[in-house]
Amino acid sequence: MQWHAEAAEAVKRVPFFVRKRVKTRVEEEAARRGDHLVTLEHVETCRKRFLNRMEEEVKGYQVETCFGPGGCPNRAVISEGLTKEIERMLARRDLKSFLEEKVGGPLKFHHEFRVSISDCPNGCSRPQIADVGIIGALTPKTGESPCSRCGACVEVCRESAVSLCEEGPVISAQQCLGCGACIRACPTGTLVEASSGYRVLLGGKLGRHPRLGQEIPGIQSPDQVVGIIERCLDRYQEHSRGGERLGVVLERLGMGVFFEENEKKRNS
Ligand code: SF4
Ligand code: SF4
Ligand code: SF4
Repeated sequence: MQWHAEAAEAVKRVPFFVRKRVKTRVEEEAARRGDHLVTLEHVETCRKRFLNRMEEEVKGYQVETCFGPGGCPNRAVISEGLTKEIERMLARRDLKSFLEEKVGGPLKFHHEFRVSISDCPNGCSRPQIADVGIIGALTPKTGESPCSRCGACVEVCRESAVSLCEEGPVISAQQCLGCGACIRACPTGTLVEASSGYRVLLGGKLGRHPRLGQEIPGIQSPDQVVGIIERCLDRYQEHSRGGERLGVVLERLGMGVFFEENEKKRNS
């Protein structure tokens, strides 16, 4: 649907963590009226409705994505399948009822459990400040095809993680962020995929005591990502006081204890 510049500008001022939801509601409002152009009036109507009925709009969780699925050339992974799987799993858990019981007052958007998925390390969906941040990763290795020493891989790597020696490229695993740009830039197919999946960060948040998500070591498969979120939610639902965020629970329990106890429970 087309947006009038004024309406698009107004939506940009909506807090980022509800912007996508507000945009959807505004487009629904325009469609309901049979309009093909979204105007400021549609935005204002939805804004008032949102403020008056916030509790109805809260669903207990949010899954945000970057613009990767819209065709961003920087994508390291295709995450649509994982996004759907996470949404299905979160919907099954009825987090809204859980929050209603824990919060003991009107539910607001900041109470929701937030998952943010970015398809590359640029992190446009801000995974670092979500309860669970997921970052697509594609790491390189040297394959069979000979290197022409064109230098494209060195040039494209923003982390200075690639250097060229006599035999070809050398990748620094410590510096590599897994953006996959060197693989895409290599004209000879010398650089190929070593691993592909997701980095997972836990417990990020903004607010009065902001905290960046803590990364779990390694690159996870889609199934592992879903498993990690489920285990986090088990622990979170067990220990959250008054609807506090995952980051606060993690700080109190410690990341190690968090996973160890869940492992024991699953193996008993
Ligand atoms: S996070 Fe990466 S893939 Fe997603 S929109 Fe940003 S640059 Fe593109
Ligand atoms: S994947 Fe990205 S960060 Fe890693 S070496 Fe290649 S260009 Fe550099
Ligand atoms: S881009 Fe490929 S061919 Fe060019 S220097 Fe790097 S590895 Fe060699």
